[in-house]
Amino acid sequence: MPVTFTSEQEAFAEAIRDFASRECGTREQRDALTNGGQEVHNHELYAKIADLGWLGIAVAEEYGGTGGGMVDLCLFLEEMAYGQIPIGGFPVTAITAGAYERFGTDAQKEEILGGIVKGLVEAIAMSEPEAGSDVGALRCKAVRENGGYTINGQKTWISEAHVADHILLVCRTDDSGSKHEGLTMLSIPKGTEGVEIRGIDTMGGRIVNDVFFDDCHVPAENLLGEEGKAWMQLMAGLNVERLIIAAQSLGIARRAMDDVLVYVKERKQFGRPIGSFQTISHRLADLATEFECSRLLTYDVAARVDANPTQLFPREASMAKLKVTETAKKISLEGMQMMGGYGYATEYDMERHVRTTLVSTIYGGTSEIQREIIAKTMGL
Ligand SMILES: Cc1cc2nc3c(=O)[nH]c(=O)nc-3n(C[C@H](O)[C@H](O)[C@H](O)COP(=O)(O)OP(=O)(O)OC[C@H]3O[C@@H](n4cnc5c(N)ncnc54)[C@H](O)[C@@H]3O)c2cc1C
Repeated sequence: MPVTFTSEQEAFAEAIRDFASRECGTREQRDALTNGGQEVHNHELYAKIADLGWLGIAVAEEYGGTGGGMVDLCLFLEEMAYGQIPIGGFPVTAITAGAYERFGTDAQKEEILGGIVKGLVEAIAMSEPEAGSDVGALRCKAVRENGGYTINGQKTWISEAHVADHILLVCRTDDSGSKHEGLTMLSIPKGTEGVEIRGIDTMGGRIVNDVFFDDCHVPAENLLGEEGKAWMQLMAGLNVERLIIAAQSLGIARRAMDDVLVYVKERKQFGRPIGSFQTISHRLADLATEFECSRLLTYDVAARVDANPTQLFPREASMAKLKVTETAKKISLEGMQMMGGYGYATEYDMERHVRTTLVSTIYGGTSEIQREIIAKTMGL
């Protein structure tokens, strides 16, 4: 491995690989766990991983976690994705956990962070039909009344809301100021009256949802952090969100790379393995180089965050998200081309890698938006 890990981290990675090969190492196992690839989150497997204590990898020890940092979390996410372990609810749970960790009261941390260690899934709802890249344009509204907040509006594209125990809602409580003022985070427990969750069909299966709020009332203690300060609270989580998506994409990229390597060494045409044709071997050499650059960047940014947990790294975190997701997409698409017709067949995993990586350059801020952020740091 090009990145230097401690012996404990290496042993942890090995344990995840063992778990993956035991629980979902074959296509038959993965199909059984995911309803033929349609469901990306399996509750039973998630519970097993909770029992192993791995879901608390980055949760503080006082809430039952193991108190690891971003490098540990990235390692976990990379290996989970590489092993194709279907716990699609975990990345968004880890993103959401960061907000509770930074802004939660003791009681909220006890409930949410302590709950995550034991297997809770958490979702976060920012996007709306008219507020995608421009999150600040969101209009879902909460009004203070009857000792709490009454919420009306719609969220869209909410990952894993259908399996989540809480949705962390970002809504508008005041529209008198600029668009980034007057935003507030509220924790919405599963089953709250006035919430309707409807799945959105996607080429990746059942992942995302529309969420409708119709006179949904939550008590004031469900406020996370300060009323009107959600924009600042969201910004504080960007390092973590971008690294989580980067680490997950890294795992898929590594898996796609390994899958195509096996294939081009075995598949023969014109009497020789297709990997011996320079047109393929040189492309793979380039992709392997890009992969290593992506991996070094991800763990370098993660180590910087661990060294300075309260510092924002907008440029570096955006670079990691941009570079890794674009590289993962490239490796999967090139992998499909190198596998010829078999890359397109659902019998092989490559077409799934393509579908998964295509969307990674869209969610969590599109590649265009990451480039905008990076360009701004260069005074452009
Ligand atoms: C699978 C999936 C999971 C998701 N999960 C969640 C979730 O859990 N929670 C949540 O809140 N949201 C989630 N999202 C929403 C996601 O963050 C948005 O889709 C994303 O931010 C883009 O918004 P949009 O789809 O409205 O596209 P738009 O913002 O309409 O963008 C369309 C195109 O225009 C480009 N564009 C827009 N503005 C600019 C600009 N200023 N400069 C250059 N180009 C620009 C974009 O890059 C893109 O190519 C998810 C989306 C998907 C597909």
